[in-house]
Amino acid sequence: MDKKEIIHALEEISLLLELKGEDKFKSAAYSRAARSISQTTSDVIGMIQKGEARKISGVGEALSKKLSEFVETGKISYLEELKDSFPPRLTELFEIQGLGPSKVRALYEELDIKSISELEYACHENRLVTLKGFGKKTQDKILSEIEKLKVNSEYHLLSVIHETASEISAALEKLTGVEKYEFTGSYRRRREIIRDIDCVIKFRSGERDKLFASLQKLKGVKEVKDIQNDLVSVVWKNGIQVEFIITNKAENPFAILHSTGSKEFYQSLKEYGSSRGYTLLPTELKKGKEKLQFESEEDIFSELGLQFIPPELREGNDSVRAASKGEIPELVKPEDIIGLFHVHTNWSDGADSLEDMVKAGRNLGLKYFGLSDHSKVAIYANGLDEKRLKEQCDAVDKLNSEQKDFFVFKGSEVDILADGKLDFSDTVLKKLDFSIGSVHSKLSMKKDEATRRLVAALKNPYLTFLGHMTGRLLLGRDGYELDIDEIIKTAARNKKVIEINANPHRLDIDWRNIKKAKEAGVKFSINPDAHSKDGLADFIYGVYIARKGWLTKDDLLNTMGTDQIRKFLKNAKG
Ligand SMILES: [Zn+2]
Ligand SMILES: [Zn+2]
Repeated sequence: MDKKEIIHALEEISLLLELKGEDKFKSAAYSRAARSISQTTSDVIGMIQKGEARKISGVGEALSKKLSEFVETGKISYLEELKDSFPPRLTELFEIQGLGPSKVRALYEELDIKSISELEYACHENRLVTLKGFGKKTQDKILSEIEKLKVNSEYHLLSVIHETASEISAALEKLTGVEKYEFTGSYRRRREIIRDIDCVIKFRSGERDKLFASLQKLKGVKEVKDIQNDLVSVVWKNGIQVEFIITNKAENPFAILHSTGSKEFYQSLKEYGSSRGYTLLPTELKKGKEKLQFESEEDIFSELGLQFIPPELREGNDSVRAASKGEIPELVKPEDIIGLFHVHTNWSDGADSLEDMVKAGRNLGLKYFGLSDHSKVAIYANGLDEKRLKEQCDAVDKLNSEQKDFFVFKGSEVDILADGKLDFSDTVLKKLDFSIGSVHSKLSMKKDEATRRLVAALKNPYLTFLGHMTGRLLLGRDGYELDIDEIIKTAARNKKVIEINANPHRLDIDWRNIKKAKEAGVKFSINPDAHSKDGLADFIYGVYIARKGWLTKDDLLNTMGTDQIRKFLKNAKG
């Protein structure tokens, strides 16, 4: 126990009292005591142990008891009780510059925000714009503060790594000595969260030293961490670690294969090779004693008698087995996507108008999208009641009649209520082209309760899609627990489409469950859950996740043409 811990505990009490809305005087007393302890030169711990804490200015009878308790037990029960009266991660909001107790309280009470990641998500959904005491400017400021905090965290979202990788690409394109480069590691495998970036560079013959020198001066590098024989390790300007692995021509395909991983996959590939007389090493492949030469990764797979295994499938050992039997499917590609579902506009909590969203969709080369603003119970999101939904449908009909090259399907992201009922009646849902059922409230249900809730919703004849299945926010909030097998079984039996929510914070359904659902006969849809024009382009992350789940063109609604999807949605009802 040292003085610092005591000061911290008192400051925490002061903050929590203020957060609770207790009178200012009470909370100020604790911060005053904390201040005077930090300023005194006396042996504070000794004084507390001797029962003389009251000699410190600002410490009264009650506080003196609490300090004795702290020194004796390492805890102050009063502080523990205070902490218990709030969600465990709520106080992390204080790490954000500009958020004091009254603002944090408003976020918690008005928007049910309990952690930084929930706050970040709420900002992306424009929830703070209309919140009293906040507004667009404060929302932007908070978002940029969160960005700063995130730099120090260990893992990053796929989208953040993706953007960083394109900055690195742009810098590498101009660099002397680079013959070719390839991003590897978990980014190449498109994991949903990623620690750092690996990049294998083949140096141009005779320019190895030049490359080492120029890499260290690469634009965008904040700090050079380590240089070895075949490695330059740097910190990018946004704080993300980047490892450049430098190879010659012969080693290059092996280095790419090895550095892409995963470890389990590489091990199973190695074992498969050795069962056929090959020795696979990080820089070479031998058959017996003979060292083999290859131009590319593809050549290595084919030498081993395997189909090429796309990086997204290199996780466990199942893909090697499948490749040996020729069972790796042709995975869906970004250019296969023709239309998207789950689009919000400023009718509810989106930032842009329906017309602007359509324009953005057209610019992405899409032929249609499915409009799904929030339903009436989602008051925080300006959800539509029956009357406004009807008005919106009329607006869509008008828009559709005026344009030939783009079609808007009418839908709703309808809340799944606690008992599994949907927020709109069958009569209302019947008139729509589709509906996405999502859980947005009461997220902390027990596993069996939450499962029952979703199962009930999936049995509703007018539900088309199951939205963001578990409610998770990556790096922020675990999803509610579910009996996933039961959900999949029910979805398959009732012919429901499972959404792959492509928002990089969600990527929910988890890719680990996709293959299972596909085998049960479920169809999927890549849904951007776009809350702005830019949000539509997030569909790309959904494509990555679909690929990780072994999905082909035929498994996805998004690859159907406008007429085909119209028919599909019609048949799905009832
Ligand atoms: Zn939602
Ligand atoms: Zn949504």
